Parts: sequence; C-alpha cells; structure tokens
Amino acid sequence: MPCIFPFTAIVGQEPMKRALILNAIHPQIGGVLIRGERGTAKSTAARALAALLPEIDVVADCPFGCDPDQPAMWCTRCHERAQAGETLPRGKRRTGFIDLPVSATEDRVVGTLDIERAIQKGERRFEPGVLAAANRGVLYVDEVNLLDDHVVDLLLDAAAMGVNVVEREGVSFSHPARFILVGTMNPEEGDLRPQLLDRFGLCVEIEGIHSPGARVQIIENNLAFESAPEEFCEEHSPKERMLSDEIARARELLPEVRFTRSDLLTIATMMSQLGVDGHRADLVMLKTARAHAAFEGRTRLTDDDILLAAELALPHRLRRQPLQDAQVTLSDVAQRLVDARARNLTEPEESEHQDENVQTTVKKKA
Ligand SMILES: [Zn+2]
Repeated sequence: MPCIFPFTAIVGQEPMKRALILNAIHPQIGGVLIRGERGTAKSTAARALAALLPEIDVVADCPFGCDPDQPAMWCTRCHERAQAGETLPRGKRRTGFIDLPVSATEDRVVGTLDIERAIQKGERRFEPGVLAAANRGVLYVDEVNLLDDHVVDLLLDAAAMGVNVVEREGVSFSHPARFILVGTMNPEEGDLRPQLLDRFGLCVEIEGIHSPGARVQIIENNLAFESAPEEFCEEHSPKERMLSDEIARARELLPEVRFTRSDLLTIATMMSQLGVDGHRADLVMLKTARAHAAFEGRTRLTDDDILLAAELALPHRLRRQPLQDAQVTLSDVAQRLVDARARNLTEPEESEHQDENVQTTVKKKA
C-alpha cells in the first residue's frame, strides 16, 4: 500500500483532528463539516484518519463489508446465504476511504438494481454504489456545498439511518451504510442550506496558522514527506499505532460510558437557552461528549466532555440564529453550563443511563 501523509504529522488544527477522531469512535455522531479555504489539510486529514483506523472484521466475500458479528445489519445477500445454511467466511479489511466526486449522480451514490434481469431471469442483481463502498469507512465529500442538494440529502439520510435501501418495481435490496461522513466547503463559495447544515453532527472551522514556528514545522514535514515518504511514515508509525490503539480502546469502552439525568438536563438547558432547535443538537452533544469520555478512558461524563462537545456541535447551529450578531463565545457556553448545572442541582433523580435513546423522554426545562 502506498504510504500517505500520517495523521499525527498534521500540525495544528486540533478541533478538526478531534472531531474526526470522535466520529471514528462513534460514527453515529453524524459526521464533520470542515469549513475553510482551499489548500488546507482537510483532505489529507480525512485520508490519514482512514489509514490509521484499526482493521475491521468483515464477511470476506461480501462487497458491502458486512460485519460478521452484527447479523441485524447484514445486506440482503448475506441474510439469504445465512438462511440457506451457509457459514459466512470471515476476513479482515482495512478501513476504506472513498472520495465522492462532485458530479456524482443518485444512481452512482445509492447503486442500481438490474430490473430487466429480475424480470427475465428472476435474479436480483444489485450494482453497488458509493454508499456500499463507504460502509464502515470514511466518505469524503470535497466542496459539499457544490453537490446536488438531492444527493447531499441521500448521503445524510444514509449516514443517519446506517442503511441503504434501494427499491424498484417491487424488487428491493438493502445493505449497511454506516460511515464517517467528512464534508468540506469553502464558505466564500456559497453556504449549505440550513436544513443540511444542521444534519452534519459536528462542524469545525479551519484556521490559517500564523505562528512562524508551526509554519516552519509544516514546511519541514511536507518536504520530508515529499523527499522520502516511506522513511517519514516509518518515523511516525509509533505515534500512528498509539492513536489507532487509543481509538480501538475507546470504541470498546464507549458502550460503558454512563450519563445521568442531570447531564441530560444540563445539555437540554444549555441548548434551549442558546435557542438551538432541540432534538438533533442535544443528541449530537450527548454522543460527542460520550465519545470524548471514552477517548479519555473514562466511563462517566464530566463538564469538560460537555463543553468540548459544545465547541464542536454548536458552530453551524448558532450561525443562523437571529441573535448571532451577539456572537456566542465559548466562555459564554462555559458560563451557561455552570448556570445549567446549578439550576439542575435541585433535580432529585440521579438515575444513570447508558442508552442514548432514553433522552427522547426528557423534557426540557423552559
Ligand atoms: Zn453482506
């Protein structure tokens, strides 16, 4: 495999790196939108993330990369094979990286069913699309604001559902489509519709690096990589392995990360006071905070987890609020968290949860 620029050699851009890592730990966070000028490390970072992620267990000959241990998620074909009594062969695979071209059509994204074949021969044949290739990997969409809105909708739907279902003339095929969606855009070239913006879990702003020391480091790293890529990768491989192991450990720990009703009330109170539409933002906050706790090796949420989640989950959601002129800063958010905690101290119940779906029943305090 050709060696690619290592994730751990990217200088600065900490929020972007953190957002990518947290999505790798918990893909249901719903992806990252990276806003910034051209020529920054956006695609390098997304590609490098995929390269360092741990290998995954797959059904060896399934083109959709089904997880042998998750039968509920299997594609139509794996289901049929198992039902026919076949033992599905196991294998390992590297995490994929798919770069979606801006000209992608609906068929290219979701795949196509060969209807003529179904009618003539009674065979169901499905030609996999981008969503199939991206399953359990990283799906990178450069200039997502230039992509057809309908295609963006399809991507975000699949990212949210974790499954792609294609139906035509009574024939249907479904396969898992759970991926880390990384979209980039240059805000100077037009914005995304607010409805689409809100559906990206996290959003980070790429900043120009002004410190001369850091800029020199960037130049040195790039030169070293260009002149001797293999040596450069070799030099960084201990760090890459360490981060890969940390992500693998965090993935295992994630289901154990507990949160209290007070945590939920704190998140809900903050979101409500900031005027952010409830459900999606609250959920993203919780998922991101849990992923961060797992990354730090903890099984309980702290205020730091919630603050960090706010930093990544709020930028694109506050932007369109009418009061945005007032620019909510991170210290405002920190103060709101303290206030929300104080308010919720009177809440008597301290039941613990691990299942993120429970908070659908939590009522916001007005
Ligand atoms: Zn399968």
